[in-house]
Amino acid sequence: MTRKVLLLPGDGIGPEITDQAARLLGACQTAGLDIDVEKALVGGAAYDAHGEPLPAPTLEKARAADAVLLGAVGGPKWDAVEDLSKRPEKGLLGLRKHLGLFGNLRPALLYPQLAEASSLKPELVSGLDIMIVRELTGGIYFGHPRGTEERDGERVGYNTYVYGEAEIERIGRVAFEMAQKRGGKLCSVDKANVLEVTMLWRDVMERLAPEYPDVELSHMYVDNAAMQLVRAPKQFDVVVTGNMFGDILSDAAAMLTGSIGMLPSASLNESGQGMFEPCHGSAPDIAGRDLANPLAMMLSVAMMLRYSLGETALAERIEAAVGRVLDDGLRTADLADDSARAIGTRAMGDAVLEAFAQQA
Ligand code: NAD
Repeated sequence: MTRKVLLLPGDGIGPEITDQAARLLGACQTAGLDIDVEKALVGGAAYDAHGEPLPAPTLEKARAADAVLLGAVGGPKWDAVEDLSKRPEKGLLGLRKHLGLFGNLRPALLYPQLAEASSLKPELVSGLDIMIVRELTGGIYFGHPRGTEERDGERVGYNTYVYGEAEIERIGRVAFEMAQKRGGKLCSVDKANVLEVTMLWRDVMERLAPEYPDVELSHMYVDNAAMQLVRAPKQFDVVVTGNMFGDILSDAAAMLTGSIGMLPSASLNESGQGMFEPCHGSAPDIAGRDLANPLAMMLSVAMMLRYSLGETALAERIEAAVGRVLDDGLRTADLADDSARAIGTRAMGDAVLEAFAQQA
């Protein structure tokens, strides 16, 4: 059956890196992958064209797709848009919400060839391979009541950190299953010494644990987890946590790998449909100059093949192709020691495609 993939290039470097992803999808089609690829506007580009960051036709196409590949959205051009609901980021949040993408997978994987690029000593990070499973549609970012109001003559801001048992169980199962497929270790991160909502989080994780006897469950307070991530990051296999803690910890973990230009991510819903995107933003400072590293985007294609389309062999072939170009010493400017020898976005795309073809 032909599967549908929707490409949403977005803003800034989004279109440049999405072009490389589209070429890679073409190579996968040549290798036998049966997909139908469509493109649509999102973010600032959609606002400029239609006055909406998530126009109805884009959402419709996203709903109908088996998987969505998104570049990045946002940039200073739209900072002046007064109506916050029309800002580019709302396009992304709207997609997450409407597609019910509750499970965010953020791998922090350090290619051994890039160990020197990390801010930590190579021996601490060499071989690092962590998967952070972050709950994406609940928690304090979405809880009610929320707002700012006047109380006793001063302004007060407040948010609500709330999770229901079913929401915790749903993300917990994603994490336990992920740990089963990886190293069999799951660390649940909470603040159960202070926050009732995370006491419940811990209870639910404990309740699920006997169903996964092959997974070793541990718990860690979020402050300690932040410390351990920079002290001894290789102790982690799979980490599961709520929306806000996951937001912060996954960015810290990303930086351990040296470049944000290398990291893909996946956001999945209950039916296995997913949105795949690089962890970085739209990098307006380098947009349109053939400077962006397309590898996070190309590795997002691999994640899409693995997690939404069940095409593990093709996913592995892409990951091996990326390893090969790094072995060959090819680097975009964000990874290069010597920027004079760095190659551009398109040349990096060419190299991955060539390495991919050689593995046929
Ligand atoms: P950013 O990730 O866009 O850029 C941070 C730094 O990393 C910049 O110096 C940039 O040049 C560099 N960088 C990022 N991706 C790179 C790549 N592929 N290759 C080489 N260098 C790369 O973060 P920011 O500057 O904080 O945000 C810029 C815009 O992106 C903002 O409008 C922000 O809201 C938006 N944003 C979007 C997403 C998303 O679409 N998922 C995520 C984060 C930020």
